[in-house]
Amino acid sequence: DNSGGLGTPLFDEDGLDDLRPQRLADVVGQQAVVERLQIMLNAARKRDEPLSHLLLDGPPGLGKTTFATVLPRELGTECQITSGPSLSAPKDLLPYLTNASHGSVLFIDEIHRMPPSVEEFIYPAMEDFRVDITLGEGLNARTINMKLKRFTLIGATTRSGMLTAPLRDRFINREHLEFYTVEELTEIVTRNAKKLNVEITHDAAIEIARRSRGTPRNSNSFLRWTRDFADSEADGRISTEVAVEALKKREIDVTGLDRQDRRYLETLIRVFDGGPAGVAALGHSMNIPPDTLEDEIEPFLLRSGFIKRTPRGRMISLSAFQHLGLATPADDGT
Ligand code: ATP
Repeated sequence: DNSGGLGTPLFDEDGLDDLRPQRLADVVGQQAVVERLQIMLNAARKRDEPLSHLLLDGPPGLGKTTFATVLPRELGTECQITSGPSLSAPKDLLPYLTNASHGSVLFIDEIHRMPPSVEEFIYPAMEDFRVDITLGEGLNARTINMKLKRFTLIGATTRSGMLTAPLRDRFINREHLEFYTVEELTEIVTRNAKKLNVEITHDAAIEIARRSRGTPRNSNSFLRWTRDFADSEADGRISTEVAVEALKKREIDVTGLDRQDRRYLETLIRVFDGGPAGVAALGHSMNIPPDTLEDEIEPFLLRSGFIKRTPRGRMISLSAFQHLGLATPADDGT
């Protein structure tokens, strides 16, 4: 079943997402989060009450959508899916709220991108399960109060720091997703190879996992690419050699950096003399929105120690020079 409720198909960058875990037990890693969610589910079931609102944050591709769709499936309730950028006014959100059945889940991806008018509209819906609708204008305007069913809001954001305090505080449960270990990603690659019906050696799975930047979405995408490569260039089986060649073709290096990541490091070195550089200036030089740099490129570079965040901006680290095979700055103390 690939439908996300209301007939909304769940796609990811790879197309139809048939690799998404369906049950909490199929979720690999994020052990502490899974344990807490399991407790929430048990309690909700025992009391026969809806789950309390839940906020998930973390870099893209770590499983926020996965968790948001697994929970209603575990509860056997409906799930509606929308996203912050597509809610430009309260009237866009209203149908989701009025459609929400008792105990069902409303998932709002990129919730930090809802405009303030929608955010204010959602407060009473979250707190008291009602909305205030203003009809008419000026002197004739009147507000009517509409009661909603008790639903569960699950919000996902790449940066919880971008959420306003009043919105953040209305989420009783907040969970942060972290990058996955190579062992966890190896497990994901191995399981998904089975689902895709392709033979893969354990070492080849490790090779793909090591280059996935701690992110299951990358593992899936590399696995699919490697499978294509194996079918086209080899006998269809994924050996270590096939995996290495496939990822080389895709310009993914041994630590998982892609062309974009390397361009970031090179820009920081060549244009900004290694920093400190502001993210806006970097984005401008690379012709990439600063938001995208912050959400999608920087978290892994920071975690790998290739860059540092300082009050004055981003700084390159020596390991980045070594990784790119560039001469480190002369003995001038940098
Ligand atoms: P976004 O920030 O775009 O919402 P996301 O964090 O919601 O991304 P998902 O779409 O949930 O990421 O995950 C991407 C893919 O990675 C999933 O389709 C699934 O196949 C795989 N995946 C994610 N988390 C796990 C996990 N814990 N165990 C197994 N597979 C996972």
